[in-house]
Amino acid sequence: MKRGKTFIVSGPSGVGKSTVLKSLLERRRDVYFSVSATTREIRPGEENGVHYHFLEVDTFRQWIAREEFLEYAEYVGNFYGTPKRYVDEAMDRGEDVILDIEIQGAIQVKSKRPETVSVFIAPPSWTELERRLTERGTDSPDKIQKRLLRAKVEFQTAHTYDYFVINDNVENAVRELEAIMTAEHCKPKERMEIINGN
Ligand code: ADP
Ligand code: 5GP
Repeated sequence: MKRGKTFIVSGPSGVGKSTVLKSLLERRRDVYFSVSATTREIRPGEENGVHYHFLEVDTFRQWIAREEFLEYAEYVGNFYGTPKRYVDEAMDRGEDVILDIEIQGAIQVKSKRPETVSVFIAPPSWTELERRLTERGTDSPDKIQKRLLRAKVEFQTAHTYDYFVINDNVENAVRELEAIMTAEHCKPKERMEIINGN
């Protein structure tokens, strides 16, 4: 059976990553979303174990010490990390895995597992990004400004990603993301292995 591939999806906070990924996951039952651990506060509408594993800082540090993370990073005052075990189990089941992680985590995963495919999701404009962050209503004006500042720094690294998707419209962004995932399974190495195994 073929092994799944891992796809990193990064992009500024508020660009619409969760929205786009939710829509993709509703369409694709063979894709596994990696639920990260975080020390940030739970937002209204979020569920522990579904959107994140919400941990105390001490527990997060224990997970680091036990080498439970494929990568972890600090982002705007909180820790975020990808539990390694579930990623590997999903890939072994033949499922593609999506990591919604920021740039520092993306660099760690790429250096440990260079075959990982990375996708940067950008907003159509900075004004639109600020509008989305404000409209979402989950962050204070001070946090929004911190996230916007961080977004501009992250944007400078976008050229290091394998693909670049502009989320002007959710439907289009999902379609492009699916096209990328499909194309990555059409690489000669994987396809030739299938034929040779038959
Ligand atoms: P992220 O996960 O990247 O932080 P969210 O998915 O929470 O971002 O989206 C931030 C806000 O932008 C939400 O209110 C969401 O409904 C809205 N949004 C997402 N994609 C679009 C889009 N293409 N057009 C307009 N609004 C969008
Ligand atoms: P939010 O607080 O808006 O849910 O996420 C903030 C940022 O943390 C986003 O850029 C998101 O991609 C990133 N993030 C979420 N989970 C992880 C993770 O496990 N590792 C890393 N490095 N970043 C993460």
